[in-house]
Amino acid sequence: MPETIESLLAEGRTFPPPKDFKADALVVDAEIYDEADTDTEGFWAQAAAALDWFEEWHTVCEWDLPFAKWFVGGKLNASYNCLDRHVAAGHGDQVAYHWEGEPGDTRTITYSQLLDEVSRLANALKALGVEKGDRVNIYLGMVPELPMALLACARIGAPHSVVFGGFSADSLRDRINDAQAKVLITGDGAWRRGAVVPLKDTADVAVAECPSIEKVLVLRRTEQDVPWTDGRDVWWHDLVPEQSTECPPEPMDAEDLLYLLYTSGTTAKPKGIMHTTGGYLTQVSWTHSHVFDLHSDNDVYWCAADVGWVTGHSYIVYGPLANRTTSVLYEGTPDFPDKDRLWQIVEKYKVTILYTAPTAIRTFMKWGPEWPEKRDLSSLRLLGSVGEPINPEAWVWYWQHIGGGRCPVVDTWWQTETGAIMITPLPGATTLKPGSATFPLPGIGADVVDDAGNSVGIPGGGYLVLTRPWPSMLRGIWGDPERYKETYWSRFDGKYFAGDGAKRDADGYFWLLGRVDDVMLVSGHNISTAEVESALVSHPAVAEAAVVGKTDATTGQAIAAFVILRSGNEPSDALVDELRDHVGDTIGPIAKPKSILFTEDLPKTRSGKIMRRLLKDVSEDHALGDTTTLADPSVVEGIKSRYLAQATEQD
Ligand code: ATP
Ligand code: MG
Repeated sequence: MPETIESLLAEGRTFPPPKDFKADALVVDAEIYDEADTDTEGFWAQAAAALDWFEEWHTVCEWDLPFAKWFVGGKLNASYNCLDRHVAAGHGDQVAYHWEGEPGDTRTITYSQLLDEVSRLANALKALGVEKGDRVNIYLGMVPELPMALLACARIGAPHSVVFGGFSADSLRDRINDAQAKVLITGDGAWRRGAVVPLKDTADVAVAECPSIEKVLVLRRTEQDVPWTDGRDVWWHDLVPEQSTECPPEPMDAEDLLYLLYTSGTTAKPKGIMHTTGGYLTQVSWTHSHVFDLHSDNDVYWCAADVGWVTGHSYIVYGPLANRTTSVLYEGTPDFPDKDRLWQIVEKYKVTILYTAPTAIRTFMKWGPEWPEKRDLSSLRLLGSVGEPINPEAWVWYWQHIGGGRCPVVDTWWQTETGAIMITPLPGATTLKPGSATFPLPGIGADVVDDAGNSVGIPGGGYLVLTRPWPSMLRGIWGDPERYKETYWSRFDGKYFAGDGAKRDADGYFWLLGRVDDVMLVSGHNISTAEVESALVSHPAVAEAAVVGKTDATTGQAIAAFVILRSGNEPSDALVDELRDHVGDTIGPIAKPKSILFTEDLPKTRSGKIMRRLLKDVSEDHALGDTTTLADPSVVEGIKSRYLAQATEQD
């Protein structure tokens, strides 16, 4: 008999690795943590040895706080590690990507085809004047040419800077100018929910103010007319197919820049995060195989993020390809043509590993379990989550309705800055608690500290810090070493400050509490937004919630909540009271929201993260702060007018 949500969520309920899963898992015992602790450099050196190096490194790590170098003296090429070596080993016919276009067209691309395409594109970039060290900007939808573009840059040693295809002309312009890119790779358009996103039109507006751009390479996908500048713009189909498939991979120093990626801008102005080659590829490939328990010959892996985010860089492109994975790549939205599109794709390709975000899971909860129930999801054996704290209710829903109660759920905490996963379970070895990212991976040092930087011990809550360098760590902020020191290394002496709050329970499990900027101070108590949101979402009527602390004359801050209901529930005053009491019962009376506004949508970044600072502006009736990274600016305007109307009504 299927278990009820209540019993799954019961206090203290834990989920040890399922027997069937464990029988075949890569890591089944916890000794690996001790081994990595005893000899951390030896542990990472072993991980690096799984890659192909043109020249061995002489030193594993040089640590001149806060600047690290990994695998010093080593030479390698990321595209060689992702492609050539698999083809040379006889795996050229293995599928690298099953690509599913939004309109329903598909492509199957093998490792040898991918190698040929990447080599052609690399030669085309050279023909456009790109040399080792030049930056190339990439602004495309989720087409196979997007991973190809990253790999072609890596092949010739030109760092890439990908800008998510949903960003505006201003955002693209600022990122190109910051990187001083020489070439932009874009397309005529991208498909999104049945409509064309006009990439080239937007790119042209941006490039008009980007003096460093010499050439624009344009991929045809949506086939509408596009503006054209002769001499600058070049069609992909005119230049790339005629190129040779011979393009020797450039031997890169382990510390050569592989790419720049700008953070998503949830809290502040985006920063150009620098990732280099050897350490990055080492940690990304190690985590990809061990966290997702990858069996390269059998698994069909799907990371449903966009390549434009770090999740896509590390876990759609570099990690999976370095590990010779067969992946699914999907162009469009989860609700096109209907709300079961993802489940249809899982069924079609017999996906075994699915990696997505809490914002998506809560949207599936809102739509209801009837959508996944229509499809055969029995091929799935492991589920992953990334991007925000996953509240226990969403975790259990995912486990039950998508995983069929058989698949471990790995909640993976990491950041653009960390490059790879840092805190997460090893699914064959770790007993899970819904909502907890569990423990730092082997080789990773993490702690929770107080204001003075002292460890708060176990149990305890405070600021999350990383205590040792790690191979895929950011090497700096592009063009701004001072901001790098100031942002990450100045708050706590000798420790990396991640900007997130966390607590450890009595068993030492880590629970991520969201950004410290989001913590509320109510009547002298620190209350995390994640805890109150989680309590709200644990009510059966609620799909998603965001809370903020608004200035209050009596309590310092008062909690304002914004709530999305699950389908089939109606807003009412009675429900407001019920939800307030529910939070009071779950956390304590002090955490009861002072106001609750029902809404259809929440302001989110284009990567799906709730932007609480804008809701705070709304609740305090300030002018809205920077909204350029919002997915849909009209959402927050709508919330603002309804919030103010409700506030007036209540006065
Ligand atoms: P910016 O730094 O520009 O404000 P951002 O932090 O949203 O943007 P990312 O690097 O994409 O940009 O996101 C990393 C952040 O996402 C983490 O610092 C954390 O707040 C949150 N996060 C990611 N994964 C998890 C997770 N599994 N649990 C809790 N929080 C997570
Ligand atoms: Mg951040």
